Amino acid sequence: MATTATLIPGDGIGPGITAATLRVLEAAGAPIEWDERVAGVAATELGQDPLPQETLDSIEGTRLALKGPLTTPIGSGFRSINVALRKHFDLYANVRPAKTILPEARYPDLDLVIVRENTEGLYAGIEHFIGMDKDPKAVAESVMLITRFGSDRIVRFAFEYALQHDRERVTLVHKANILKCTQGLFLEVGRHVAEEYEGRIRFEEKIVDNTAMQLVLDPYQFDVIVTENMFGDILSDLAAGLVGGLGFAPGVNIGKTVSMFEAVHGSAPDIAGRGVANPAALMLAACLMLEHMGLGETGRRVREALLSTVAEGKTLTRDLGGSASTTEFTDAIIANLASAR
Ligand code: NAD
Repeated sequence: MATTATLIPGDGIGPGITAATLRVLEAAGAPIEWDERVAGVAATELGQDPLPQETLDSIEGTRLALKGPLTTPIGSGFRSINVALRKHFDLYANVRPAKTILPEARYPDLDLVIVRENTEGLYAGIEHFIGMDKDPKAVAESVMLITRFGSDRIVRFAFEYALQHDRERVTLVHKANILKCTQGLFLEVGRHVAEEYEGRIRFEEKIVDNTAMQLVLDPYQFDVIVTENMFGDILSDLAAGLVGGLGFAPGVNIGKTVSMFEAVHGSAPDIAGRGVANPAALMLAACLMLEHMGLGETGRRVREALLSTVAEGKTLTRDLGGSASTTEFTDAIIANLASAR
């Protein structure tokens, strides 16, 4: 029986890469019925709110969404719909696997996962200016919000993820040597949670700046990394760079009830409407979704067909050094699906 999932094609290159992803999923026989909804600029162009209630209701009902990138207007206009969705559904865990795809990659066979806390830290956005003399912006102040509850649930999530995915090690990344209260609390709670998993999952702790260097020198020493919001944002882009860039970076935002799968890259307005975008990251996000739905075998076949297409190197989009259109690249993946076992 087909499962219903919400589909948000998104803005810019979103509708093109979403259509490509749906073609591949259909060719792979994924039993998914899509409830297509709008958000972001696509919604405002239809005269609707950037985050329509019907879209929220759909996600509430399906608990599963595949989302194309959404444009956030710079300077003025509505606030980030991505952030609004995370807040609305309390999608506290951002999971970003970094797995080598490109055959000539700098780090062959790399396979690590970054679990980023998605709701707290400096990105909670508690900030303000303090005026002095005639300067209203003499001082800017931002609050790093870390709670025992939020730290406990993200570290626990990372350990449970490690158990479910046959991972060996969780590395907690922090800056508790300097930020003794906020980062200190994150580390203290993390150590406490780790004790419950002793003997099953190895626990390590590393300071964030050292982690950045170690990721470049020897990323193979990492398995699952768990960290707070801003460090996770930065380290997960770094990790994406280790395996070939954002073109191959999928992610998922997970809450207690809802899971939202997406490509890590944005709506790429510079190439929107030209039919040249690389749909691989959204396709890999769809593979994660299939795995989440218990359809890991279908996801594995899609991934394998994608990998073979990239390895052949004949039909690649421009960002991968080729000249194929989104449609030609997708056709090649579908052709390879037949031989993907
Ligand atoms: P971007 O990721 O959209 O683009 C950065 C560069 O990468 C551009 O040169 C673009 O052409 C290229 N690129 C990105 N994805 C590509 C793909 N699939 N194939 C080929 N080339 C690709 O980042 P940006 O320009 O900083 O942001 C554009 C918009 O996207 C902004 O409004 C931003 O807020 C939004 N955004 C949304 C999300 C999301 O929905 N999750 C994430 C990041 C940015």
